[in-house]
Parts: sequence; C-alpha cells; structure tokens
Amino acid sequence: MVDVNLIKVESDWNHNFRIINFQDASERGVCYSDAKQVWISLHMHESMNDLIDTINHETLHQAISSNFGGFSKDEMDMSDTMDGEQEHELMKRVTWAMNDWLDFR
Ligand SMILES: [Zn+2]
Repeated sequence: MVDVNLIKVESDWNHNFRIINFQDASERGVCYSDAKQVWISLHMHESMNDLIDTINHETLHQAISSNFGGFSKDEMDMSDTMDGEQEHELMKRVTWAMNDWLDFR
C-alpha cells in the first residue's frame, strides 16, 4: 500500500470546473500560470475518461510552470523557454511514459 503522506504535495493552485467558457466555447481546459488556476470546461467532454485526460493535460501544464519540491521557480519553470508546440510535445511524451508506452531499455 502506498503511504499517501509520501506523495502529498502542498499547492496554492486552484483547479476549477465550469460548464462553458464563453470567451472560447471550443476550449476543453486552460492553465493560467500567473493566476495559478486551472479551468476545465465540462461541455466539451463526452465521458469521464475524456474529462480525466483533460485534467491530466492541464495538470502537466501546471507542473511545467510550477516549483514543486522546493526548487526555485527559475530552476523549474520551463514554460518560458518552450513555445506551446514544444510544451505539448514534452507533455505527449510524459503521457506515453505514464502509460508505459516507452521502452527505456
Ligand atoms: Zn495544452
């Protein structure tokens, strides 16, 4: 059994859900790094798994722009050095690794 105290991470970020983002009705989710907020738009999802995929996606955006583990933001914040396409490519590969789709041997 995993000791949840070992993986507990304190965060001052907020994760929120809304039915629709009227500013961008095609948005599935968004991560506002400066405001430390993640918003998920429910109307763009078809299933619980679809919703969880978006939550994971936006949480990876959060992780890339956060300072987990006590590292300074300058050391950890890669969001300023990658453009959106590079950040999404990194996130895709992290997701492959999380799904055991990569063979590191
Ligand atoms: Zn994204």
